[in-house]
Amino acid sequence: MNINLIHFDTSVGVKKPRTMLKSSIDSCPFCDVEHLTDIIDTDGDIIFLKNKYVVVEGSDQFVIIEGSECHSDMPRYSKEKMRRLIRFGLKHWKNLLDSGKYEDVLFFKNYGELSGGTIRHPHMQLVGFPKLNRDLLFDPIELHGEIIFESDGVEINISTTPRVGFGEINIIPPAGNFIDSKSLDTFADFIQIGIDYLTKHFRKDLSSYNIFFYHRENSEGIDQIYAKLIPRFATSPYFVGYNIHFVPNNVKTLAEEIRQIYFS
Ligand SMILES: [Zn+2]
Repeated sequence: MNINLIHFDTSVGVKKPRTMLKSSIDSCPFCDVEHLTDIIDTDGDIIFLKNKYVVVEGSDQFVIIEGSECHSDMPRYSKEKMRRLIRFGLKHWKNLLDSGKYEDVLFFKNYGELSGGTIRHPHMQLVGFPKLNRDLLFDPIELHGEIIFESDGVEINISTTPRVGFGEINIIPPAGNFIDSKSLDTFADFIQIGIDYLTKHFRKDLSSYNIFFYHRENSEGIDQIYAKLIPRFATSPYFVGYNIHFVPNNVKTLAEEIRQIYFS
């Protein structure tokens, strides 16, 4: 079958603390810094560590705790903090990719109760897979679309061939700039703008989103990274049941709105 079929350990899954809902009774493990184990690296209050709960069998799972504040998130970070966080994340993503241990390493963020995440405290995840069919992870066309703005060689756009459907914002830095350069500051700034837009303007009640990072060598063999921001709400049954991707007819309007709010 042409899919990545991966085993998930449900016996570990049920032990994970859950703090996403207001009704959750578990205390936040990421606030309890003193009792964190297997810390690999820190930058101020940003912490990179091994995930205690390895639910994806055969994988190595890691967590980046974004800071000490449980109820903060990206739109509230200073520009400096946001840039530092994205650099820190990309550095560890690249280290894992370069380790030679993995066929591929996923780098993503779940935020909010409809994102698939279980912990409210802002964090991101890195998951290394010794075996995985990389070609099935995404299609680069899903990262392109109606261009909102470009600066320092970094493009922010809205998908016109979305992965799922509505409000997918993509950010594409220049090829080859995996770790350093001014364009990575702009990359971080555009991610922050995209999340701010999705949670404050796209839908006023939007509580959940994902960020997915992708990488692929371009036709000249140079590494190209991408970030995709996806607002999360109940997923369309057309997609879940039949794999139909909707192209919303307001993409140009959304692009203009984002331009007006953030780039004029
Ligand atoms: Zn917390």
